[in-house]
Amino acid sequence: MRFAPSPTGGLHLGGVRTVLYNYLFAHQQDGQFILRIEDTDQARYVEGAEQYIYDCLAWCRLEPHESPAVGGPYGPYRQSERKSIYGKYAQQLIEQGHAYYAFDTPEELEAMRANFKTEENPSPQYNHIIRKMMRNSLTLPPAEVEQLLKDHTPFVIRINMPENEDISFHDMIRGEVHFNSSQSDDKVLLKADGMPTYHLAVVVDDYLMKITHAFRGEEWLPSAPVHIMLWRYFGWINDMPQWAHLPLILKPDGKGKLSKRDGDRLGFPVFAMDWKDPASGEVTRGFKEMGFLPEAFINMLALLGWNDGTEKELFSKEELIAAFSMDRVHKNGAKFNFEKAKWFNHEWIKRMPDEIIAGKLRAQAKNKLPDEKMTRIASLIKERCTLLTDVWENAWFFFETPADVDVDSIRPRWNSDKRNFFSEWTTEIKETIEWNAMTLESKFKELAASKNIKPGDVLLPLRIMLVGKKIGPGVFDIADIIGKEETIKRVELTLARL
Ligand code: GLU
Repeated sequence: MRFAPSPTGGLHLGGVRTVLYNYLFAHQQDGQFILRIEDTDQARYVEGAEQYIYDCLAWCRLEPHESPAVGGPYGPYRQSERKSIYGKYAQQLIEQGHAYYAFDTPEELEAMRANFKTEENPSPQYNHIIRKMMRNSLTLPPAEVEQLLKDHTPFVIRINMPENEDISFHDMIRGEVHFNSSQSDDKVLLKADGMPTYHLAVVVDDYLMKITHAFRGEEWLPSAPVHIMLWRYFGWINDMPQWAHLPLILKPDGKGKLSKRDGDRLGFPVFAMDWKDPASGEVTRGFKEMGFLPEAFINMLALLGWNDGTEKELFSKEELIAAFSMDRVHKNGAKFNFEKAKWFNHEWIKRMPDEIIAGKLRAQAKNKLPDEKMTRIASLIKERCTLLTDVWENAWFFFETPADVDVDSIRPRWNSDKRNFFSEWTTEIKETIEWNAMTLESKFKELAASKNIKPGDVLLPLRIMLVGKKIGPGVFDIADIIGKEETIKRVELTLARL
């Protein structure tokens, strides 16, 4: 299996899903998962994009067995370092008549496009018809070709696509897929600077790296006939990997492919992690920084276009490896739903061991509480967190005395009875030896009953005193954790403000 990204920018959801399906399948089949960096197109190369891919895979815990970073028996795994390999394969195709030299200058290509442009065909391609009218080794006399080569005239090598031939292959998701060879143009295989194009490099490398399965985005389907012809021309067709072209991830309304712009417009990330464009400095938000757990992120992605045939939605990576199957990947695009993505995260946060959530609190809290209290806070608040950023939002008042207290919410129904109640309560709890949520609650309620006050009438003020506003888990749990001194301090501070 291989994931073969071009380092051109941040990794979109669809890219990570391609990694994920490759990874799951490879692990399920006890195969190797290879990361190959396809950086032959120097014009599209973006600084930092390769490192970003490693960081994303590390965050998602979808690490490859072989890659430019960890090496492996079929390296190098970066195509720019394999430049010297491809030339001889292009040459072999020329000798066999499956490829040809094309000497057309950019101006000649421009003129061709202008001349053959029609309404139905606004961008004519260099194909089996046009090639007959261009300057290449199929049209020029052999002596002239030889002279042009001797003179180091710039040339590219193009594939010689057959005319009107059926090209078919079996796609693991789509079944039999047929193309007519005349629909494909004579793609450039080797550029004037000796660099291969993606089409040549992908076939040569998949062969040399002994790739058995290749899953990639549906946008590559139109390239499949060219690749198949190359596998045939090289005589390697029996070694061609099994292909699967993964369906698109669609906008929430299902109208077209989900793009970065949709994320900006609708306020959700479409990249795995924050990506800073080195040219513009513009930052595109990622799921990681938004507060997603990698476990939730990959679970959500796996279910975008696949299910196990039951209602089950929550899967760990190990469960996914066991349950995944290509024949249950949907043929049609999957609509992205951010609310659903958040639901997955919420479920995963709930299931996280308290120690992990406590670790997040420890990282943010200035005032460190004992471990036992940290894990208790975690267990109290987990249920309330959708994003990891909610963890601190729901817990800060365990660590800091609230600076703002919403006394305006207490005032309208405040009276001397309630004031007396709270001053008596603080006096009473100063003496309490048994400091725990249960005793605190029963003492609080007993005192209220003895004063003919409904507990509900003093519970909300107590919450506001301790937290500053109407949020948080059980109020006696809060008092228990922050301790006697701090509880009394917060009550007295608010009484003074009232
Ligand atoms: N380098 C291609 C990309 O950037 C990979 C296509 C393939 O997997 O064959 O998507």
